[in-house]
Amino acid sequence: GEDYYDFVAGKENFIEQMAFRFPDEAAAIEKYVELLYKTSSLVPKFFAGQALPKVAGSLYNRFKEKLLPDYLFKTTYEVLFELTDNQELIAVLTAQWGDYGLPPKKSAFIMHAMVAKHYLNGGAYPVGGAAKIAETIIPLIQAAGGEVFTYAGVDEVLVRNNKAYGVRLVKGEEITADAVVSCAGLVPTINKLLSEEVVKANGYDKLVNKVQTSSAHLCIYAGFKGNAEELGIPKKNFWIYPTYDHDASVEAFHESKDYDFPLIYISFPSAKDPNWDERYPNKSTVEIVTVCKPEWFEQWQGTTWGKRGEEYDDLKQELTDRLMATLYKQMPQLKDALDYVELSTPLSTQWFQWNEGGEIYGIEHDVDRFRQNWIHPKTEIKNFYLTGSDVVTAGVGGALMGGVMTTMAMMGLKASKVTELLKKGVIST
Ligand SMILES: Cc1cc2nc3c(=O)[nH]c(=O)nc-3n(C[C@H](O)[C@H](O)[C@H](O)COP(=O)(O)OP(=O)(O)OC[C@H]3O[C@@H](n4cnc5c(N)ncnc54)[C@H](O)[C@@H]3O)c2cc1C
Repeated sequence: GEDYYDFVAGKENFIEQMAFRFPDEAAAIEKYVELLYKTSSLVPKFFAGQALPKVAGSLYNRFKEKLLPDYLFKTTYEVLFELTDNQELIAVLTAQWGDYGLPPKKSAFIMHAMVAKHYLNGGAYPVGGAAKIAETIIPLIQAAGGEVFTYAGVDEVLVRNNKAYGVRLVKGEEITADAVVSCAGLVPTINKLLSEEVVKANGYDKLVNKVQTSSAHLCIYAGFKGNAEELGIPKKNFWIYPTYDHDASVEAFHESKDYDFPLIYISFPSAKDPNWDERYPNKSTVEIVTVCKPEWFEQWQGTTWGKRGEEYDDLKQELTDRLMATLYKQMPQLKDALDYVELSTPLSTQWFQWNEGGEIYGIEHDVDRFRQNWIHPKTEIKNFYLTGSDVVTAGVGGALMGGVMTTMAMMGLKASKVTELLKKGVIST
């Protein structure tokens, strides 16, 4: 709506700012922030089942709910409602639900708490842009004797006697290996990379129905003439909502795409990157993300990127105009500086990322997802591992920890080497 709230960095600053806006709720706000810290300290115990060897992990997971506080197994809304009945405050505190893709009555509090707590230290952005993540990791992989291939789609993980021994690429080549690790996402791995026979033999055909993929998304990639300073582009993100009831907004939007987007995230990557102006002087970028339903695009399923036809382009234009209007409402000065704009739909991310249905964050982050103890880096197939965000949680940090856990699972008894690095802070949680 028309109200706005600043989410400021720093625990005390955050409490002060929120208490200023909700003076009668100061005690609840303080309790809430303390709960975020408490939850954060329990995260290693919450995911211990995924970090332990599979048999020990399964045993631990059986007792996990009895060993840990019950708020770790509740929805975000349930936990916040125990702290306050002020619905506006709950809506404001859960405003970054877009970071994990589910509104407060649906999302797991543990997921909310991890995201909300990390923001108390302020946001972070890779110097040189997201591509730097790959650019800095690839030389390390190569120095260790590894190699990285792009445009090397995997068609199938090769399995014999329930033991993985390599992959067959889409182009037909087979690469054999002692171990295979998939970061393609839990659902795409089961549905697309394993044969039906292997899936059924290991019960994954039934298990996969216990999780859902997260919401599909639209993303605007816009370029502007002028640098951030000239254009008044900030380093912060905007989160924009039609009402204070996030769950109701999502439901209404699911009924019709003509209803207001239940959330719009506007971010300014070039302004956050200290190196940007050296590389791209007098240019700025804006990214706008929102949720959508893959069904809107169903009729073009199977068509080719860039050649989906006029009707598809018209729908994209309509959605682009709506999202750009939201940006211009906040920053009218950008209107005349627009240089380029392109919208991705669920079909675009399916095309480029090979995800299931344009989902933004792999599997859904509801309470039940975190009860799926079968989701573990080690699979039922010998020498076949899962990694990435679906093993832990969404986000670059979640995917990173997924990598740590899979490494530990693969190292077996030598896994303590990884915990030593964690303790030394070489790998940071
Ligand atoms: C628009 C958007 C904005 C986001 N913003 C943020 C943010 O600001 N901060 C943050 O922390 N997180 C953000 N996220 C979430 C974050 O990007 C993901 O959680 C994270 O990238 C997951 O990492 P991953 O390694 O598990 O999977 P991915 O990064 O999805 O990597 C999986 C890879 O597997 C490849 N693949 C799939 N199938 C095959 C196959 N058959 N053969 C070969 N390769 C295959 C895919 O192409 C992909 O490259 C954002 C996500 C989106 C969509």
